[in-house]
Amino acid sequence: MRVPEIFASNVFNLQVMQERLPKETYKSLKKTIDEGSALDAGVANVVANAMKDWAVEKGATHYTHWFQPMTGITAEKHDSFITPVDGGKVIMDFSGKELVMGEPDASSFPSGGVRATFEARGYTAWDPTSFAFVKDGTLYIPCAFFSYSGEVLDKKTPLLKSMRALNDQALRILRLFGNTKAKRVYSTVGAEQEYFLIDESMYQRRKDLKYTGRTLFGAKPPKGQEMEDHYFGALKTRVGAYMKDLDEELWKLGILAKTKHNEVAPAQHELAPIFTNTNIAADQNQLVMETMKRVAQRHGMRCLLHEKPFDGINGSGKHNNWSMSTDTGLNLLDPGTTPAENGQFMLFFAAVIAAVDEYQDLLRLSVASVGNDHRLGANEAPPAIVSMFVGEELEQVIEALERGEIYEGKGKNVMKLGVDTLPELPKDTTDRNRTSPFAFTGNKFEFRMVGSSFSLSGPNIVINAAVADVLREFADTLEKAPDFNAALHDLVVETIRKHRRIIFNGNNYSDEWKEEAARRGLSNLKDSAEALPHFADEKNIAMFERMKVFTRREVVTRTEIMLENYSKAAVIEALTASEMAKRDIYPAVSAYVRELCATLEAEKAAGIDAGEAAEKELIASLAADNAAMYFQVKQLDELLAREKAIADAAAQAKFVADKIIPAMQAVRAYADEMEAKVSAKCWPFPTYGEILFSV
Ligand code: ADP
Ligand code: MG
Repeated sequence: MRVPEIFASNVFNLQVMQERLPKETYKSLKKTIDEGSALDAGVANVVANAMKDWAVEKGATHYTHWFQPMTGITAEKHDSFITPVDGGKVIMDFSGKELVMGEPDASSFPSGGVRATFEARGYTAWDPTSFAFVKDGTLYIPCAFFSYSGEVLDKKTPLLKSMRALNDQALRILRLFGNTKAKRVYSTVGAEQEYFLIDESMYQRRKDLKYTGRTLFGAKPPKGQEMEDHYFGALKTRVGAYMKDLDEELWKLGILAKTKHNEVAPAQHELAPIFTNTNIAADQNQLVMETMKRVAQRHGMRCLLHEKPFDGINGSGKHNNWSMSTDTGLNLLDPGTTPAENGQFMLFFAAVIAAVDEYQDLLRLSVASVGNDHRLGANEAPPAIVSMFVGEELEQVIEALERGEIYEGKGKNVMKLGVDTLPELPKDTTDRNRTSPFAFTGNKFEFRMVGSSFSLSGPNIVINAAVADVLREFADTLEKAPDFNAALHDLVVETIRKHRRIIFNGNNYSDEWKEEAARRGLSNLKDSAEALPHFADEKNIAMFERMKVFTRREVVTRTEIMLENYSKAAVIEALTASEMAKRDIYPAVSAYVRELCATLEAEKAAGIDAGEAAEKELIASLAADNAAMYFQVKQLDELLAREKAIADAAAQAKFVADKIIPAMQAVRAYADEMEAKVSAKCWPFPTYGEILFSV
């Protein structure tokens, strides 16, 4: 395999555009891509035709507008290129109009009530900043999705808007530092994707995996991740073949899959791509997740992307590495080597600190879901409390600034920011705090609370918008300042004094931190039901409106959708648990009890005393647990009936979190207890040990 040859071979990227489009058309499209200017109809027609010819050469017969509705996954509707012509023949045809705009029926996508008052019609519009590609005989056109009345119905449009907001404000700051070269500022993301691989036969025998993506029952196996022998361990042949195949598919789609390795838990792995612009990273991560699942099936396996497929075993996250970069390739979170660069770095750095502190609640809820609730705070992932790690040396710089003092780091003199002799700031890429939810790692921040199945859009909309809003305040202050350097210094010091509480360099998994965080007044939204309603807090609506990312109405409807998604997912889990308990576990245990009773009777008839005590004890304990489980399931069913009657989405989510999930947990506790006692051949589905070591 020649990687450079296959790389992006299925992508209609700049190189292909340049080769296939007339010069003027290419220039005009490039301008649209770079500057977001409108695309005229003539250009669209030429582009569409070239795209179609290219796609047909790649074997495509269909095209689809590819978008990201509020379900968190992507949606597509395939149309063929065929157009009838005289003589009962067809030609392959694709117009500019078809490229630029689509009209899928929006009525079956979550809209949080938008569709109740407006038409069901939805529109998709081409996002030319994310390249079209060919996959499985179809040309995919990345799109935004909105309603007839212009209300945004997807995750991509607000992401693009948040990037625009960040661009506008960051450029204001750069101009103040005399940077006239940069034309655009992009946020960049590299997402490390964790996943599990299990054998297909195991998956097929677990209703819970099929319906909910995670196991709802399962006793702890004799061997889990205790030996820590899986992390970075040698890849098994089958996994190696899978990863090779996966890389190849991703490379063809122009995705820079770079690193792959085994993770901590048995059967757990990770894939990391090289970072790129956030909207592209978000699109590509959707493709990564989808391709992971598809390729796994080809290899007789299933890829699990759930945040917590196995209780008691590490779950999966998606570390969101985030930074800001200019179109000239300057990373704004890279500490520089000259005083001016350092002043600029400190300002952008302080802006992120302020944004994370100011919008802790938004960051927390941007990663809230039924799945991620099992992970956050479970001693394998950051707690529900948002805090930041900045590394030892930057911490000292900050401490000195906070005291209004001068930091004398490593024998160097330190002066005021932005003035002649600032020190070389440490470029700290080694000092990591693995427990921190939001860690500075040298030249980027790593947001570690994101769950493995999440779309990258939600968390990055929040980060981009919040940082943009802080940069707006900064720019307002600095643009008016008579003495720029003095104002810069004061602004950085003031910001750090005000937001110092969000920085924590200790162990985030410890109980002391929870107490300390409470003393500092940091928010601690323990689960999704508690976190999600804060999306519509006035302060948050105001920020989103200022940054033109969401309207008030969009925030309100989105809050509703997120709460509904949460409750629905939890209810599906509860219904699945109830069904498995009633139809699989109860009958299996009762059959085994009957078998034990028959043995007991047979022994008695034969006059054998030995074994009687053991059998009686086992029968009694299993019969008691099975009965207790039965009544617990009954209670769960009653709660599920009550949940349906609750109208308010927040109240419903709270009921789910406080009543249904604990009831489901109680059912599980009985089942897991019994699993450990029942004959292996009687148990109705594969155990944790069998699943985790199936590949
Ligand atoms: P880790 O130790 O967490 O695995 P790595 O150095 O391997 O860290 O980087 C993890 C991810 O961070 C990669 O996907 C990488 O592309 C991404 N990354 C590096 N620099 C940036 C940046 N400036 N902006 C966004 N992501 C970045
Ligand atoms: Mg990482």
